Amino acid sequence: MKKDFPRIVVSACLLGEEVRYDGSGKLDPYLVHTMGRFCTFIPLCPECEAGMSVPREPVNLWDDPASPRAVGAESGFDYSRGWRDFAMRRLGELSAEDPWGMVLKSRSPSCGVRVDVHTGCGARKRAGMGIFAAAAKEHLPLIPVESEAGLYNPSRRENFIVRLFAFRRLRELLSGNLSRRDLTLFHSRERLLLMAHSPEVARAAARVVANPATEDISLRHRRYSELYLKCMGMRATRAKNLKAIAFGASQLREGLRGGERAELEDAMERYRLGELPRLAVLTLLYHWARREGHHELLSQHYLNPHPLESRLLSLG
Ligand code: SF4
Repeated sequence: MKKDFPRIVVSACLLGEEVRYDGSGKLDPYLVHTMGRFCTFIPLCPECEAGMSVPREPVNLWDDPASPRAVGAESGFDYSRGWRDFAMRRLGELSAEDPWGMVLKSRSPSCGVRVDVHTGCGARKRAGMGIFAAAAKEHLPLIPVESEAGLYNPSRRENFIVRLFAFRRLRELLSGNLSRRDLTLFHSRERLLLMAHSPEVARAAARVVANPATEDISLRHRRYSELYLKCMGMRATRAKNLKAIAFGASQLREGLRGGERAELEDAMERYRLGELPRLAVLTLLYHWARREGHHELLSQHYLNPHPLESRLLSLG
């Protein structure tokens, strides 16, 4: 059964492996004991695998935040080139393992999704990315990346889990025989989910699907993928989720009976106030859509997520 679980590349130190510069590990309880129940981990330590020892000197990032230099705090040695070469090679190997996502250690010069970069202007620092994390984002754009710290933020955690499954579906679409029919079907099932992330970008994606002028099927899929990734990279806030839910409910029109409309409005208000999880509101809507036989709503991944996605979203 575990072979069907999402495969997540994880900074080895977060799994408790003693690979940090000072010889320690940094086991993350939520990742290991909670998410670990429904995920398979692929451990990775970019610094050790690039040839550094344990313990080792600490390394800091310097200069341009868009392409920083990784410099040893004691030796002054510039590790940047070796680390980038390693990242390219290892990411190529990793893509063959078909990972769904990555959880990388925050504030690390290698793994950090957001890390301080010294500018050389006194104490001034700017935000950048660790060398491996930046390479992963650039070369595996269909793999969502989050830090372990981000998983403790409910909104970021939910977005990461949703993107794990959404990006997986997109990869499956792109790995098949590209056809206009499949793209149209794909988009019709993603419609509410995309609306919850960005109604504007969702509309732009719909235009790409519908535009008869784009005859080149590869080009159409590429444009669509770019918009899909852009859309899913935008945070689904409560306000945007409420709009998507209201749009879904409007599709049922007269299908809501008796006090059901008031019941839904009450559930939406409680979700807005943070008293009810999003999945509870969606379950209500899904239940009514099923009773009414509303096939378009029932086909929405937003209303009917993958069972593992639901379980991961339900974890506290
Ligand atoms: S943060 Fe990354 S490079 Fe540093 S010890 Fe952990 S896995 Fe290794």
